[in-house]
Amino acid sequence: MNRSKKCTKCGLVKSLNEFYIRKKSVSDGRAYLCKECALKYYKKIYQENPEKYWEAQKRWVRKNPVKKWSMVVLARKRDLGFDIRITFDELYQIVRNIKVCYYCGRNLVYRNKNRTCDNSASLDRINNGKIISKNTIRVVCIQCNRTKQNRTHNQFVGYCEKIADKFEEVRE
Ligand SMILES: [Zn+2]
Ligand SMILES: [Zn+2]
Repeated sequence: MNRSKKCTKCGLVKSLNEFYIRKKSVSDGRAYLCKECALKYYKKIYQENPEKYWEAQKRWVRKNPVKKWSMVVLARKRDLGFDIRITFDELYQIVRNIKVCYYCGRNLVYRNKNRTCDNSASLDRINNGKIISKNTIRVVCIQCNRTKQNRTHNQFVGYCEKIADKFEEVRE
């Protein structure tokens, strides 16, 4: 497989990950312009017409809620000082197939922080460690995540069992 391509703007041959992912339109799944040129292009549009730029941004977010969610989550974890060992692409490929909360099984909604609801998707660190990688994360609803807090997976399940046991007789 060809791991590099030529940017149609600057003409430089760069490795594929120097190009943004464009799943549908391009055969190799990458944009025509390298990231550097693409960013310059967006910057130019922004300077010339900020309103149009923000409209395009909003449209993109509406069409790509899971991508947006993955970007925001990763950026936030990075800001909080976590050890990030997963790329945006890898996270997105995992998350795009996750439709329900790992713990309670309810349908998940991928949206931004300012519009969270009880079944908003959130990133759980399985055993509450510092490393964010394929093996240390799960997507759960925000309510399960808030309830789990800083518990490990086993601690959380034990906690739920305790509550279930306590009220078992009442249920019958
Ligand atoms: Zn370029
Ligand atoms: Zn849940």
